Amino acid sequence: MRLNKGDEVKFPTKFGQFRLIPYSEGEKCHMALVAGNPEDGALVRIHSECLTGEALFSLRCDCREQLERSMQIIAEGRNGVLIYLRQEGRGIGLLNKMKAYSLQDKGMDTVEANHQLGFRADERDYSAAVAILKDLGLKKIRLITNNPEKIKGLNGSIEVSERIPIVVQPNGHNKRYLDAKREKMGHEI
Ligand SMILES: [Zn+2]
Repeated sequence: MRLNKGDEVKFPTKFGQFRLIPYSEGEKCHMALVAGNPEDGALVRIHSECLTGEALFSLRCDCREQLERSMQIIAEGRNGVLIYLRQEGRGIGLLNKMKAYSLQDKGMDTVEANHQLGFRADERDYSAAVAILKDLGLKKIRLITNNPEKIKGLNGSIEVSERIPIVVQPNGHNKRYLDAKREKMGHEI
């Protein structure tokens, strides 16, 4: 995994002070938001981008809520890292995500829609996150996630000493999505 590390910048947020370090992988630019001086055992969130949820306030998913809650937990702990990976739509891209939404509007759930389009339920790849954690000198982390599969995605390169769940409130639009994540993808919500 070849990532090019960019210059670190100060990054104040509504949750607290972070430092932002860009790591580019070809055209994509992943971001590491670092609070304090994390060492082994630090709190880490590995978050995949969701334009519709995070920038456009969609209630079809719970991404924005998970992102906000994670930044809050890391800022409160004063030490930790949020890695923001540029893999939209569980890795299928924005346009295919919209196709999957259209199939969901016709009655499929999020997993069935991905399969219909020829994708796996989850196409995400966490090798960039592993490379970023290693660059930051972290070999052992406490991972903020509801998705036990994400721990496997770290390929044993990073030790997860604890999994910290995020409690998400269903909003009336995303219940079916959350049900599919829990029942078909093993998320513990
Ligand atoms: Zn989302």
